[in-house]
Amino acid sequence: MAQDRVNAPDWDGRPSLVPDDAAAPIAPLPVPSSSPAPAPFAHQAEADFAELLNFYRIPWLYEPTSFAIEWEDDAVTEMFTPDFYLPDQDLYVELTTMKQSLVTKKNRKVRRLRELYPDLQIKLLYRRDYQQLVAQYGYGALEITELRPEDIDRILVSPAELHERVVALGEQISHDYADRTVVLVGVLKGVTFFLADLARAITRPLAIDYLAVAGYGTPAKGRSRQPGAVRIIKDLDEEIVGQHVILVEDVVNTGLSLAYILKHLKAKKPASIAVVTLLDKVDKRLVDVPLDYVGFPCPNEFVIGYGLDYRERYRNLSFLCVLKSEAYEQTAPLRPREDVVVSEVAHTK
Ligand code: IMP
Ligand code: MG
Repeated sequence: MAQDRVNAPDWDGRPSLVPDDAAAPIAPLPVPSSSPAPAPFAHQAEADFAELLNFYRIPWLYEPTSFAIEWEDDAVTEMFTPDFYLPDQDLYVELTTMKQSLVTKKNRKVRRLRELYPDLQIKLLYRRDYQQLVAQYGYGALEITELRPEDIDRILVSPAELHERVVALGEQISHDYADRTVVLVGVLKGVTFFLADLARAITRPLAIDYLAVAGYGTPAKGRSRQPGAVRIIKDLDEEIVGQHVILVEDVVNTGLSLAYILKHLKAKKPASIAVVTLLDKVDKRLVDVPLDYVGFPCPNEFVIGYGLDYRERYRNLSFLCVLKSEAYEQTAPLRPREDVVVSEVAHTK
């Protein structure tokens, strides 16, 4: 049965994301482009994506189904096999690492698939999406180096626009919670400035608490073996049982981290949880997450400033701006490849 072959991450059996002797920060090593992707993956990006899903405990199948998309008379003339299927999300994901200019053919296939199988959900991740994911997670090693103004492409949201929008969000939240006390829960560290400004724009009594989640690629501390999975590295200081919680996020992209955080918070039995995010990359969602308040829809680009970082830099810019893609395009794969788990992967080639 297909379900049996789902590569659900398992804690005990699979290798850690970080080596045992990980005393030093782990900087992913550049792998020469000639180095083959581990079987059965056709591309390194697919292997990386599989590892990222494992990290977030999202079960997946690799190329489980081929769909007929063209016929001549009664004979099938063209098939399309999406790279991944995520059974829990009932979602197919096609990852294309071709340059943006070469994806027309792939786009056509996906369009055709959607026409023919309207109930099927498929997401196409482009090369730039993959590179943004790598930029988002791929640099555990925290080295704070100089800011490079030449890396900045353009300003997306000015300080005045930020102020105006954050005040409006604060007013809306104050109105919606007119008779309640709230607990603002910030997800460190990107939320720093947004939370500080939002809290001051809310006129209800409130408490502030924080949590932090290990991102994919967070370096191990000391020599202990870290589980190769998402985890809370700083939990709330206070109980939230029976409280009205507003979770404050900087950006929601795939939704993977938010889905995990919401599950963690719900287990603490608050009276209610709402989510406010400064930025919403709505097209890039892999798992559905409810957003109650959104600052700005975010274009499909890597954004920095007003708390958002690239390799811990640029957080202190007073505006939101787009990082030039050249600044992160030359990225190494998410991590060294030798311990990728592929043995249980369903494989139909
Ligand atoms: P998700 O789990 O893919 O939704 O990613 C959410 C987290 O990734 C955010 O909380 C950010 O820390 C980070 N992130 C996503 N997109 C960006 C970006 O454009 N700039 C900086 N950080 C980002
Ligand atoms: Mg970050």
